[in-house]
Amino acid sequence: MSAGSGSMENEFPLELKKTDITPYLAGNTGIRGVTTFDSGRAGPHVAITAVVHGNELCGPIALDWLFRNEVRPLTGKLSLAFVNLDAYDLYDEADPFASRWGDEDMNRLWQNETLTDDSTRERRRARELRPFVDTVDLLLDLHSMQNATEALTLSGALEKGRELARAVGVPALVVADKGHAAGKRLRDYGGFGDPSSAKNALLIECGQHWEQSSADVALASSLRFLQATGAVSPDFGADTLAGFGTPSAQRFVEILQPVTIETDAFRFEQDFKGMEVIDKAGTVIGHDGDTPVTAPVDGTVLIMPSRRLDKGMTAVRLGRYLA
Ligand SMILES: [Zn+2]
Repeated sequence: MSAGSGSMENEFPLELKKTDITPYLAGNTGIRGVTTFDSGRAGPHVAITAVVHGNELCGPIALDWLFRNEVRPLTGKLSLAFVNLDAYDLYDEADPFASRWGDEDMNRLWQNETLTDDSTRERRRARELRPFVDTVDLLLDLHSMQNATEALTLSGALEKGRELARAVGVPALVVADKGHAAGKRLRDYGGFGDPSSAKNALLIECGQHWEQSSADVALASSLRFLQATGAVSPDFGADTLAGFGTPSAQRFVEILQPVTIETDAFRFEQDFKGMEVIDKAGTVIGHDGDTPVTAPVDGTVLIMPSRRLDKGMTAVRLGRYLA
């Protein structure tokens, strides 16, 4: 259960510091770390979540900014929530990869089977959060990545996710994917992953865990999400947004398959960082034990190759650019 949460060598500078979230832990909902502002008017429940993974520092920076700038919804409700409090508490600059989670990955637990079980810290916390998550209509879930690759939105497999990503407008790269064999992500939970539901969610990978630009992307994405959903007026945070510059045109990648590791001996052919394009279908990109892993199509794009190559986990997602 704890496989993969351990130490890894870190080559990245720790440009970001851990934000003190203790002022926000009490919240006002009865659920630790969850604050909900109610406009008193009809409208959607919009939420931004941070630290589903404990070593992802950009989300708390964005939420802290929103709290300090007294964000309030014009209509409906707005919630700001810190998710994996135990893992965030464990974050240690001396071993910054180690606090991704306490017992297991909290972003694989969002199905009934694991949400009705309390055998790990993450399962207990997910159960505690579930009544809150069940009321959210529009979700932005802030994350960051192991490698220093371009920020991207994971919009899920449905067209409604791509529509919301277009409305938010940043980051420039949108990746449409079904998720992981190991379990459902928060962004795929319940109505978020149901084509007949109006609920919608985006997961944003803001950049490398500890680079300054990931904090900028987290805040820019949050402000644009709040504007796009009508939770705030276009004036809210406008000066700050202007400072981040004009967004580039968006590109969309469709994930053809996640590569799920099936042996204890997975290795890549090269030190892939992500966003590499493999020209020819059939090109070997790695081996899972003795089985070669190959590019499924001409122009295969590698999305988020992992440094944690443990059995059952996703090694990389393979996609192609959509026209
Ligand atoms: Zn994450």
